[in-house]
Amino acid sequence: MEQRRLLWELQEVEQEKNKKEQDLQKIPSVLQYREKYKKVDLAEKKLQQKGEELSAERKAQRLKEMDVAKISTLLEEFNSKLYNGKIGNAKELESMEKKVSSLGKDKEFREDEIIVHMETIENLESEINHLQKQLKEEKETLQKLKMHARRDRQSVQDELEKLSRDGEELAAKIDEGLLKKYRELSKRLGGGRCVSPVQNGFCGICNVSLPSSFLARLRTPGQLVYCENCSSLLILEE
Ligand SMILES: [Zn+2]
Repeated sequence: MEQRRLLWELQEVEQEKNKKEQDLQKIPSVLQYREKYKKVDLAEKKLQQKGEELSAERKAQRLKEMDVAKISTLLEEFNSKLYNGKIGNAKELESMEKKVSSLGKDKEFREDEIIVHMETIENLESEINHLQKQLKEEKETLQKLKMHARRDRQSVQDELEKLSRDGEELAAKIDEGLLKKYRELSKRLGGGRCVSPVQNGFCGICNVSLPSSFLARLRTPGQLVYCENCSSLLILEE
């Protein structure tokens, strides 16, 4: 095959490879997997936080139950003193009655608080239960997405490897000097296409009309002709 034609094929393979490399960064299933991963991570953190809230509530409830138990013991003690008739002093009796009344209120107050804790605990338990079910489903979806993402990624990587091999095979057939010129030109033109197939007398890249003298020179083997407008290396379409 003609050298310039091989160069054009190499360019097309390399362009395709660049495109695939970009595709690799935005495979839909991989993006979906990353999105879901973040969601699962957030859900796990939320569940952990709710678990901590639940144990704090349980601890607070236990402490208040212990308080109530202590108050109850005291109340029993005071009540028995009040009613066993051993306190004769009216002032002392009055003071004891006050103590009993105040302790009773204290006890009631703590019992109300315990009820609030119990309600909070019940709500947290049901929320945690719901979150756990949700997280289980999310994790199953995540697992499926992971498999899809791996498969899709592998398939793009396989294509990339094939394009690399094709490119290497083509490059091996091209004169070193010509290949070097192509690399330099491609670099100067920002990595885009720089080998332009002439179509009906027009440059295939910038579409400018080429003088007929160019076409004659193009037919001479080994002659390198560049587009005066976009600097691409021109080749004849076979
Ligand atoms: Zn051009």
